[in-house]
Amino acid sequence: MVKTPIYFDHAATTPLDKKVLDKMMPYLTDNFGNANSQHVFGRNAVKGVDDARDTIAGFINCKPSELYFTSGGTEADNWALRGVAHAYKNKGKHLIISPIEHAAMIVTAKALVKEGFSVDFMKVDKDGFIDLEHLKSIIRDDTIFVGCMLANNEVGTIEPIKEMAKIAHEKGAIAFTDAVQAAGVLDIDVKDLGVDLMSMSSHKIYGPKGVGALYIRNGLKVESIITGGHQERTKRGGTTNVAGVVGFAEAFRLAMADREKNFEYVTSLRDRFIDRILQEVPYVKLNGPYKTNRLPANADFSFEYIEGESILFSLDLAGIAVSSGSACSSGSLEPSHVLLSLGLPEELAHGSIRFSFGKHNTVEEVDYAVEEIKSAVKRLREMSPLFNAKGEIKNV
Ligand code: PLP
Repeated sequence: MVKTPIYFDHAATTPLDKKVLDKMMPYLTDNFGNANSQHVFGRNAVKGVDDARDTIAGFINCKPSELYFTSGGTEADNWALRGVAHAYKNKGKHLIISPIEHAAMIVTAKALVKEGFSVDFMKVDKDGFIDLEHLKSIIRDDTIFVGCMLANNEVGTIEPIKEMAKIAHEKGAIAFTDAVQAAGVLDIDVKDLGVDLMSMSSHKIYGPKGVGALYIRNGLKVESIITGGHQERTKRGGTTNVAGVVGFAEAFRLAMADREKNFEYVTSLRDRFIDRILQEVPYVKLNGPYKTNRLPANADFSFEYIEGESILFSLDLAGIAVSSGSACSSGSLEPSHVLLSLGLPEELAHGSIRFSFGKHNTVEEVDYAVEEIKSAVKRLREMSPLFNAKGEIKNV
């Protein structure tokens, strides 16, 4: 008997690791000082922040002075895009992103269009991979920014960022990647990727919510979006979230220490789940690449002839927590912009469910979920006039 509720929504957020909490605790209690204060409490806080910056900078292969703490991935994404657009507008006003970016990028790009910038989207193929030839055909002399996520939050596609950055640089544009879903899972060495800017978030790797970071290559001009005090070397105002930053670094350290083990384990859960669903549930489509170049934690399916929300609610009743589309857009009845960009028809883009596994999940949980999905899908299809009582489609 498996214990419910079962959490299969790690791409939305992860539980805080107890070891991370232990590291944060002193900074929430005795070492509560403001990192800007000129006394022992301030110095203790600064030490925590400096150590955290050194740790994370080491993992992504940048200088600590190139790493800026933010309130999360959304702020880092906003800052990268808006900050470059505003700083380099005299050089050009053309921005390129992928159509499957997180809302933090898409909505910011749309706002910049209203300010007079022009935005083009790189094409993606049916599995979500960006089309580099298309990028070469749309990049211009006045393109200042080329950006794409390293790994997609909805369908798990791992993008060819190194190649994208090369194309951007050949035209003198700045290359950005959103590594929010990739940090702690994939290699995110900024020198190797060749990116100038990279965003990250702590709560996707068993760290606290409300803290993230933006890597800004030394020498790059990026206008501030949060102005105020002299924090973050005057680039980002606001009292530093010391405990959050300390927790982020510890979460990163733990993720890197167990990276290979967790990668292998979570991949095995994903593959068992993918194979069983494809074999045992009729009229189902796996969204994103089959197994290679796919995030180990991600499995995203469209269940034909069923609304994603109906499956989500049935699974919730069975004690299984998943999400329909991206967590950030669920709650809206819009079909997923990611799936539409992959060329899925609206019905399938509506019927998608994302399962994202974590290091604490078990094979028994995966098997339990498969059985619950099979019965939920059968029950929901029985209510459809297109299906007969056996759950078989009538008109094929
Ligand atoms: N970018 C990606 C790829 C994400 O998956 C998310 C969160 O879902 C974000 C950005 C936003 O990060 P945060 O929740 O830290 O603001």
